[in-house]
Amino acid sequence: MTTRRRIGCVIGLAGFSAAVWLWAARPDETSWQPIIRPAAIIATEPVPHDGDSADDPAIWLCAEDPSRSMIIGTDKHGGLISYDLSGKQLQIVSGNSWPDNVDVIYDFPLGGRKVDLAVAGTRAKQELGIKVWTIDAKTRQMADVTAGGAIPTFGHTEPYGTGVYHSLKTGKFYCFVNNKKGEQEQYELIDGGNGKVGGVKVRSFKLPSITEGCVADDETGFVYIAEESVGIWKYPAEPDGGSEGKLIARTGEHGLKGDVEGLTLYCAAGGKGYLIASSQGNSQFKVYRRDGNHEFICTIIPRKGDGPNAIDAVDDTDGVAVTNRPAGPNFPNGFLVVQDGHNDKGNQNFKVYRWEDIAGKDLLIDTQWDPRAQKALAPAVVDPPQAK
Ligand code: CA
Ligand code: CA
Ligand code: CA
Ligand code: CA
Repeated sequence: MTTRRRIGCVIGLAGFSAAVWLWAARPDETSWQPIIRPAAIIATEPVPHDGDSADDPAIWLCAEDPSRSMIIGTDKHGGLISYDLSGKQLQIVSGNSWPDNVDVIYDFPLGGRKVDLAVAGTRAKQELGIKVWTIDAKTRQMADVTAGGAIPTFGHTEPYGTGVYHSLKTGKFYCFVNNKKGEQEQYELIDGGNGKVGGVKVRSFKLPSITEGCVADDETGFVYIAEESVGIWKYPAEPDGGSEGKLIARTGEHGLKGDVEGLTLYCAAGGKGYLIASSQGNSQFKVYRRDGNHEFICTIIPRKGDGPNAIDAVDDTDGVAVTNRPAGPNFPNGFLVVQDGHNDKGNQNFKVYRWEDIAGKDLLIDTQWDPRAQKALAPAVVDPPQAK
């Protein structure tokens, strides 16, 4: 990365949007770096519970009508909540399950048909483990289909972060789950009969300290796990992937400040795109290359909007999700959705940003890559030799 020595050199403005790239240094950062300051376009309704309750969002894309896509968010003291693309709450399901992290799976084979699923780690005593819900594309209703009510994790003890993986090698679907001791388990999700989804443990390994944020790249076959005070680890995602990981981003570098929280992937064709990490310690998001050696690219610091009804900025940020796909008139180039630890207008909620307001002229905008039609990538793209 070129070192710039002057603050405020604007290098990209996306139309009327709020995308301003500026090169600036901040006191907690060791080098000059590009900073993006987008303003939210919408905010979801606040979650029903106060205190630290909203945690992690996921995005469900409606194949037939993208404007009917949904944001699915967790309420750590309640249930799983869906919102439409204006932020209006649609449904609360499993209201006492205490979900923490949520992800979406497309086209899971269940009872002879293909269904979309939401998958979350849940921490209520009576539902400790992994829970699974179907998402009905017509009604946009989610329904609990977990065999036995919950797939038990860590010997019937509390899970923390979760992330799903669809193997393009074998066609199998998995859920990674971790806990506050840094223990990791991988479950194959299976058709459990009678319309229910079950889970079979296929792997376990351990990181030294507390982990949560987790995202898998189906096309490259790797899973990224955030060790909250340390950085971001990369592991092979297949069940025979072993217990040896690679630390690809460290706290203290490029202003990544613990806790490292949610992780998400902006995917584009040919293995391109970005790994985006929530840097809770300074309420920022760090953007790394999805491919290559995951070089650091830039920082996103959401700002307060303009005008009397301005949406507030993001603080103590937690979970994050992004899509490259068009999703209704507000989001022709996809969007980024983030948890906001302090919502000016009530309980915690989720803030949503146009991707083009983040990308400006410097990041990719690829609306064609399709999460329902992923392609396994060649080893050269997946794991190039480490740069010196
Ligand atoms: Ca998520
Ligand atoms: Ca955490
Ligand atoms: Ca805020
Ligand atoms: Ca979290």
